[in-house]
Amino acid sequence: MRDKFHYVCVDCLSEYPGDKVIYLCPKCQANNREDQPPKGVLKTVYNYRQIREWYPAETIFQQLEEDRFLPLLPIRSMESWPGLRIGNTPLYRKDNVIGENKDFEIYLKDDSQNPTFSFKDRASALVSAWAKENGIQTLVAASTGNAGSSLAGICAAQKQKSVILVPAKAPLAKLTQILMYGAGIVPVDGTYDDAFELSVKVSEIFGFYNRNTAYNPLTIEGKKTVSFEIFSQLGFRVPNRVFVPTGDGVILAGVYKGFEEMLLLGVIETMPVIVAVQAAGSPNLVENLDRMEFKVTKSKTIADSISVDVPKNLSMCTGFMKKYKGESVTVTDAEILQASAWLSGSTGLFSEPAAAAAFAGLLKFSKSGNILSGSKNVVLLTGSGLKDLASVQPLLNLPAPVAPDIRSVELAMQAFLSKNS
Ligand SMILES: *Cc1c(COP(=O)(O)O)cnc(C)c1O
Ligand SMILES: [Zn+2]
Repeated sequence: MRDKFHYVCVDCLSEYPGDKVIYLCPKCQANNREDQPPKGVLKTVYNYRQIREWYPAETIFQQLEEDRFLPLLPIRSMESWPGLRIGNTPLYRKDNVIGENKDFEIYLKDDSQNPTFSFKDRASALVSAWAKENGIQTLVAASTGNAGSSLAGICAAQKQKSVILVPAKAPLAKLTQILMYGAGIVPVDGTYDDAFELSVKVSEIFGFYNRNTAYNPLTIEGKKTVSFEIFSQLGFRVPNRVFVPTGDGVILAGVYKGFEEMLLLGVIETMPVIVAVQAAGSPNLVENLDRMEFKVTKSKTIADSISVDVPKNLSMCTGFMKKYKGESVTVTDAEILQASAWLSGSTGLFSEPAAAAAFAGLLKFSKSGNILSGSKNVVLLTGSGLKDLASVQPLLNLPAPVAPDIRSVELAMQAFLSKNS
């Protein structure tokens, strides 16, 4: 029997077997330079024809869903999956969230409900499960914060060891999580890119399995599961647009790949429009989609999870965006903060800045009259607001304490009541 899956290099199309540890395509990797987006990210390819033969066409999606999509995952059994709820997050319909009289549908996919409170658990779970099936005990990742706290938490659940390299100035909550989950943490006095290079050396020298985003091809496979869920939660319908907060472009590629596989399996007939939302202070993926030569804008944004100088998955994302007519938008830090406050105050969903950026992207599209009436619009809320309290402080004004008597409380409430009446 043929292997369940193999890898194809998105740049030179070389193929590699799926049964060994492999990260970037060795042929392409040899020419990579640190200041350029890497070539050689691998796409995981299954035997789609065979999967179509296994199931009746009319019920193929429902049956795959019953099998927890195992035929489309590079592992042998769901037994190796962490015993935690990964993904399967709520999709809330909130049409009125940006004001009454909008005649389109808005859905918020709340991935802050993952065990470590971010979308990254989808990738960590799969990488960890693969390691478990292949007898690897220790994993390593470089991270701006969420990938590291996610891998640390998932490894704790799986009784695996993890080593996390993070820039020393990552948000305190994310560093705290890594420590609480009992991982080996190595704060690096340098950038995320420095941490990335070092983590690659660590896997080479110590043999630890590397979870780095857009380096380990399985990160994309874990992330694609969100598309299956959205399709299911919309009553087996394809949304018109999905707003995806984008840094390195692994979530973006994952969302595309999930829908593309449904297309290949005959489950759907059209692709949604995927909107890459980036911070105006770090627009390095969307601004380089059409450039012959990569040009970097030095990143400066409060949205640390999408603050990326050299997007590691640019090549794959360019391919997807061209093929399926993707769209893009950038949002300023002020727009992100405003969107974050609005979203919290009107839905009870408090998102970290990167996630609020996706919502800000929807707001921008709506303001410019770009959303069709009757359309279904999904926003990926990728991380919890509790992960980064510092960045929203400029919005906030904690009143001074009052004397413990009812008169003082009444006085203190006046300002609030008049504002809300
Ligand atoms: C990692 C992350 C992103 C961006 O994902 P990429 O794959 O780097 O584009 C967005 N939001 C949150 C909360 C993240 O942690
Ligand atoms: Zn290659």
